[in-house]
Amino acid sequence: MCLLLASMAEKGQGRAIGIDLGTTYSCVAAWQHERVEIIANDQGNRTTPSYVAFTHSERLIGDAAKNQVANNPINTIFDAKRLIGRNFNDPTVQSDMILWPFKVIADPTNKPMIVVTYKGEEKQFAAEEISSMVLTKMKDVAEAYVGETVNNAVVTVPAYFNDSQRRATKEAGVIAGLNVMRIINEPTAAAIAYLVDKRATIHGEKNVLIFDLGGGTFDVSLVTIKAAGTLQVKAVSGDTHLGGEDMDNRMVNHFIKEFKHKKNKDISENPRAIRRLRSACERAKRILSSTVETHIEIESLFEGFDSISTITRAKFEELCMDLFNTCIEQVKVCLQEAKMEKSSVHDIVLVGGSSRIPKIQQMLQELFDGKKVCKSINPDEAVAYGAAALAAQLSGEGDDKVRELVLLDVTPLPLGIGLDGDLMAVCIPRNTPIPTRKERKDVFTTKDNQTSVSFPVYEGERSRASDNNLLGRFTLTGIPAAPRGAICFNVCFDIDANGILNVSAGEATSGQNNNITINSYMGRLSKEQIEKMVDGADKYKREDEEHKKNVAAKYAVEDYAYNTRNAIRCAAKLTEDDKKKMEDAFKSFIQWLGSNKLAEADDYKNKMKELKTIFNPIIAKMD
Ligand code: ADP
Ligand code: MG
Repeated sequence: MCLLLASMAEKGQGRAIGIDLGTTYSCVAAWQHERVEIIANDQGNRTTPSYVAFTHSERLIGDAAKNQVANNPINTIFDAKRLIGRNFNDPTVQSDMILWPFKVIADPTNKPMIVVTYKGEEKQFAAEEISSMVLTKMKDVAEAYVGETVNNAVVTVPAYFNDSQRRATKEAGVIAGLNVMRIINEPTAAAIAYLVDKRATIHGEKNVLIFDLGGGTFDVSLVTIKAAGTLQVKAVSGDTHLGGEDMDNRMVNHFIKEFKHKKNKDISENPRAIRRLRSACERAKRILSSTVETHIEIESLFEGFDSISTITRAKFEELCMDLFNTCIEQVKVCLQEAKMEKSSVHDIVLVGGSSRIPKIQQMLQELFDGKKVCKSINPDEAVAYGAAALAAQLSGEGDDKVRELVLLDVTPLPLGIGLDGDLMAVCIPRNTPIPTRKERKDVFTTKDNQTSVSFPVYEGERSRASDNNLLGRFTLTGIPAAPRGAICFNVCFDIDANGILNVSAGEATSGQNNNITINSYMGRLSKEQIEKMVDGADKYKREDEEHKKNVAAKYAVEDYAYNTRNAIRCAAKLTEDDKKKMEDAFKSFIQWLGSNKLAEADDYKNKMKELKTIFNPIIAKMD
C-alpha cells in the first residue's frame, strides 16, 4: 500500500507550515527561500516552551509563560500533551497529576479538565484547548516570519499515539484555526528530514533507526529510505510516557529525600518549592550531558532554608538507569517487529533533547556494536523540519527535493472488534502500512433470532478485548431473524492517510448493507463542543490583543505625562502658578492611574487628551 503525498486536490490552498507540537517544547518550520527554514520566535528561540499561563490580567504562551512559572505555578499549564485524548482515570493521568502544580478535575464524561484562575475567575480548559493555544502561538511565529497568513499545517504526534490522542490533536489544530493537512508521526517526520538532508549521499537503500527521546514521549522507528524519495516505515515502537521529565522527576524525588534527611523538612506539598526544584533539576540534567558533576543551589527553597547540593553524572545515571534500559528494550522490540538484524541498520538518527544524554548514546552504540550515531541533524529541529517539508509538498510550495516524497507509514497498535466472550478479534495488525482497508467476514450472530448486534471497536495488544482501549461502539439493527450463526457480517476497517479510523459493518447474507461508520468514541469532542472551543480560542486571542492595546495606550499616556512634567519642571520661563497647575494635574493623573487598573485603551486616550488641554497652553508659554 502506498501513499503518494502530492495529492493535487490539496495544492493551491495557500501557505503551509510544519509544527512539532512537543510535550515540553514546540518548533515550527516553513518552506522559504527554496528550502525548509526553522523559524525563531519573538524571543529569538528556535523552540518554544509548550506552556500557557493565566494571570490576573493576561494570558501568556511560550517563553513568557515559562519565565513566570515559579511565581504562578498553579496557573501555568504544561504537559497538555500528556493529557490529550486520555480519560481522567487513565493511570498515567492519575500518576502525573501528583506532580503537577496545576489542578486537573474530571468533567461529567470523565474527560480531564485543567482548572485555572484567569482574570480573577475560575476557568476550565480541556487539554486540546491548551494545545490549541500553543499551536496558535506557533502559527503567529510563522506568520510574523513569512509575512502572510498561514492557514495550513502538518502537525506531528508520537508514533505511539492512539486514535483518540490523534483526533484530539487534530481538534487542537481546528480550534487554533488551522487546516490540519496531515497528522504524521514524529519519527517519520524526522526520517523525512534525514532524507531531504542526505538525499545526495543516499544511493540505493538505507535502513535508518530514528531514536526520538523528548520531554514526555519516546518513539523509535525503523525506516527504509530510498534515494528516489520513498520512505517506508518498517516498524514503530516506544512509550507515550517516557522522557526527560521522568528523569527530572527522579532527580526531584532524590532531592526531596535529601532535603528531608538534611533539614528534616518535607517540601513535597509545596508547589512553588517543587517547581523551583524541578527547574533547577532540569538545568542540572542538561549540564550533566556535558560535564560530570554540577551544583544545585536554590535560595530559601522552603521555610527559609536553602538547598545547596551537588549531583554527579554517575548518580543521575543511577537514578534513571531503568528508564534508559526501557529505551534500549524498545529499540530491540522495533528491530524484531521490522524483522531486521541490527547489522542491517545503516544509520542511527538522534531526535529529541533527551537523546543528548551521553549514557543513552553510549548504550545505543553498544547495542549496535560500536556504530557511531548520526549527529548532523539537529535533534530539536528534525521533526518540525520534516513536517514542513511534507507541508510544502502538500501545498505545492516545495521544489524537487520534496516533490517526489512517497511516504509509507504503519499502524502503531492492533485494531479490532470485541467478540462474544470479550475476545479481541484483530482486523488490522500493528505495523500495517497505512492508509489501509481490511475486512473480516467471519463474524456471526451468537443468539437465535438476533435482530441487532453491537460492535465494540478496540485498539491494543491484549487478547481480552476489554483490556484494550475502547475506541467506540456501534450497533447494527434490522437484521433478519434467523438461528444463531446463520447471519454473517462483513466488518470493514479503514484508516486514512492521517491515521484516522473508520469502521463499518454490513449484513452479508440478506444482501442488505447496513453499513455504519463510527462517529463517536470515548473522549471525542462533539461538533458543538469543538465550535464552542473555536469561539473560545477567538475570544482569548481577542482578549490578548485587547490587553496589548491597553498596555500600549497606558505606556503612551504615562510617557507623555512624565516627559511633559519633567520638561515643565525644568523650564525657567514659567510662573510658579503654571508649574503648580501642571503638578496638580500630574498628581491627579497618577491617582487616576492607581485607582483605574482596569482602564482600557480609550480611557487612556481620553486621559491623554485631558492632560494635553492643561499642558499645551503651559508648553506654549515655554517657547
Ligand atoms: P518534546 O518533543 O517532548 O517536547 P524535546 O525534544 O524538546 O521534547 O526535548 C525536551 C527534553 O529534552 C526536556 O526534558 C529537556 O530537559 C531535555 N534536554 C534538552 N537538552 C538536554 C541535554 N543537553 N541533556 C539532557 N536532556 C536535555
Ligand atoms: Mg519532540
